[in-house]
Amino acid sequence: MIISNKKILITGAAGFLGSHLCNRLFEQNSVIALDNLSTGRLSNIQNLIDNNQIEFIKHDITNSIDLKNLDLIFNFACPASPPRYQADPIQTTKTSVLGSINMLELAKKNNARILQASTSEIYGDPEVHPQVESYKGGVNPIGVRACYDEGKRCAETLFFDYKRMHDIDIRVVRIFNTYGPNMDPLDGRVVSNFITQALQNKPITMYGDGKQTRSFCYVDDLIDVILLMMESKTLNVSSDFIGPVNIGNPGEFNLIELANLIIELTNSKSKIIFEKEMPSDDPKKRKPDISLAKEKLNWEPKINLRSGLIKTIEYFDKVLKNESSNCCRGPVSRISPRQSA
Ligand code: UDP
Repeated sequence: MIISNKKILITGAAGFLGSHLCNRLFEQNSVIALDNLSTGRLSNIQNLIDNNQIEFIKHDITNSIDLKNLDLIFNFACPASPPRYQADPIQTTKTSVLGSINMLELAKKNNARILQASTSEIYGDPEVHPQVESYKGGVNPIGVRACYDEGKRCAETLFFDYKRMHDIDIRVVRIFNTYGPNMDPLDGRVVSNFITQALQNKPITMYGDGKQTRSFCYVDDLIDVILLMMESKTLNVSSDFIGPVNIGNPGEFNLIELANLIIELTNSKSKIIFEKEMPSDDPKKRKPDISLAKEKLNWEPKINLRSGLIKTIEYFDKVLKNESSNCCRGPVSRISPRQSA
């Protein structure tokens, strides 16, 4: 473990990536896990809370919060799945913009280092391929994805302005598509949809012609590089390196290849159906250029798509079996933390 004896705040801690950060950091640090549970699932971190290994605070970062003696802040709060972030787009923009201001103010008060979970979405539907950090992006500012894309772009602006004006110790990572255990089976993303559909022998819902590409990074690889980025001083690599840096797996696949691989690995009888149009502003291709991460952090992903999918399928298989056994015990088949919170 590279980060130890620190007081750490993780926002979005009950979400997919936030929960992995909690799991990687709690043993050697004091972790405060913050989430408004709008899309995060308490079940992702329930065992850590029950065992008093982390402190949980239900809070929405669009409101300020006063916490003391923080060393590090990981700002991961924001719905990340297109159907989820588009469900309340104004709240999504507020989460990135007001949320970043509140967290940067908190970093300022505490003299803490703060890392922003930015995204490949800041490149929009890219004209430069693969995407390099110097590419300024092609986001449609009035489209349905803009609440997320422009919110995250503005968050980057705020991080760099807080650095320029107040010398805040910032880090910015641009996260490309990531998958793995603790994803919400119902959040509507391509990996979770295809796996849950394949495991249930249901039709695989392909949007558009399936030729659009994404580059999928297994979560453990991504958490490794986030921790490296946060603690680069300790490692003595590029102490002045603050990003923005692309993090993701450059292995690029079109969605038909992804669907076929998932069908093969789940031994499924599912067939691909093409009945939905490409969603508006859906990027046609995406692949990170990770030369900067390699050079500055000496990092590259180790887990290929096939091995990562095998682990992810195991997770979804357990979740689905759990749900179907719950359903036989009573009329309520799924009480999600969102509903119960
Ligand atoms: N997609 C799909 N079927 C699904 C869910 C998503 O074909 O059931 C497509 C979606 O249109 C996009 C790609 O898969 O082209 C990745 O979508 P996702 O929501 O996972 O994330 P994005 O990279 O677009 O943010």
